[in-house]
Amino acid sequence: MKILITGAAGFIGSHLVDRMLADGHEVTAMDNLVTGTMNNISQHLSSTRFQFIHHNVSNHIHIVGSLDWVIHLASPASPIDYLDLPIETLKVNSLGTHNTLGLALAKGAKYFLASTSEVYGDPEQHPQKESYWGNVNPVGPRGVYDESKRFAEAITMAYHHKHDLDTRIIRIFNCYGPRLRANDGRVVSNFIDQALRGKPLTIYGSGEQTRSFQYVSDLVEGIVRLTGVKHHEPVNLGNPQERTVLELAELVKELTGSKSEIDFKPLPTDDPKRRLPDITKAKTLLDWTPEVEIRDGLVQTIAWYKEQLAVAK
Ligand code: UDP
Repeated sequence: MKILITGAAGFIGSHLVDRMLADGHEVTAMDNLVTGTMNNISQHLSSTRFQFIHHNVSNHIHIVGSLDWVIHLASPASPIDYLDLPIETLKVNSLGTHNTLGLALAKGAKYFLASTSEVYGDPEQHPQKESYWGNVNPVGPRGVYDESKRFAEAITMAYHHKHDLDTRIIRIFNCYGPRLRANDGRVVSNFIDQALRGKPLTIYGSGEQTRSFQYVSDLVEGIVRLTGVKHHEPVNLGNPQERTVLELAELVKELTGSKSEIDFKPLPTDDPKRRLPDITKAKTLLDWTPEVEIRDGLVQTIAWYKEQLAVAK
């Protein structure tokens, strides 16, 4: 198949590129490299089944030739990135989603939207089922991401209903693994980077807030499975093993052998207190469950961070 992946040079995008090429597909990778990096995909530049286009999908997209799938992953995804790039985030998830939908329609391609657990905001129901409408502050700092992803879901459903476009929507819960940028600001990258450099691990708030962390290969497997199933409503993809941020800090310290102290910092505005996916739908529909235990996933991720630190020296 011929697949366009937007956000292909990013963390999740680049792992999906690896997988789609390994499965024998042709991949057009698109990215404006604002938060992504060519280091994640440059290993494929010599492949005849791969091409890279440097482009911001918030502007009109022109692709020569046919496409079977448009997979739209482009967006800043870390709180510090979307706080730093609020307008760009709103644009890529609104205009960028509109442009990629229009492209899919024009090419007769299927369409895949990466949405997020942030559509649930600071949820008041646990675990979060796809039927939950969420608890989002539209004008808070996270609103630029949460509301634009909610818009992205709405316009994707509208293209499905109005134009009969064959669409998929996933809601991605916290994901980690190699290629999560060290300065990305997310909790797993911060803790590993801090632990390896012997700096204090920064815990925001009391550390009692929870997240559920999935390893990137599990997410990629879920994405691939959903391309094979005709289901247009959103599907949660996440690991239902819930942990406090404090527990994560202890685990990273143990696995890195770090003696770093813990430094408590203020909790960011509207930081969700609990996040836990209900993955019944993904289990039933896709026969999918996350397989990578957090210890194993963290060991892989830590090894990658060590390599990066060694290269930087
Ligand atoms: N967090 C933290 N220390 C850090 C970075 C994040 O305690 O150095 C907390 C953050 O406040 C949140 C959780 O870890 O409660 C997950 O944050 P992240 O930015 O990874 O993703 P989120 O799930 O909030 O989008």
